[in-house]
Amino acid sequence: MAVKITDICINCDACLDECPTESIVDNDENPTGEDTYYVNPETCTECIGDNDSPACADACPTEGCIVWDARSGDHIREGMTEGQPVVED
Ligand code: SF4
Ligand code: SF4
Repeated sequence: MAVKITDICINCDACLDECPTESIVDNDENPTGEDTYYVNPETCTECIGDNDSPACADACPTEGCIVWDARSGDHIREGMTEGQPVVED
């Protein structure tokens, strides 16, 4: 289970310290080479057990930037769809 930061990330740093599992790295450490922040799908828990919803997405000011992600091959939160923004208006 995981979430993913998409290419509309503005590198504002609001999400980084919110993550309870230290799964987020900044653009300098993004292993994909993209100039955005990055979520490690192997350690992201979708904040299950820590928060009612993903803390990174709650903190993110960029609408639709963080989406549900099934890269780890695990299930995403029940009722959610791969690629769908975690926070929607
Ligand atoms: S959903 Fe939670 S665990 Fe996953 S990256 Fe965001 S803050 Fe970290
Ligand atoms: S809070 Fe959103 S826009 Fe800011 S660095 Fe994190 S993902 Fe990118």
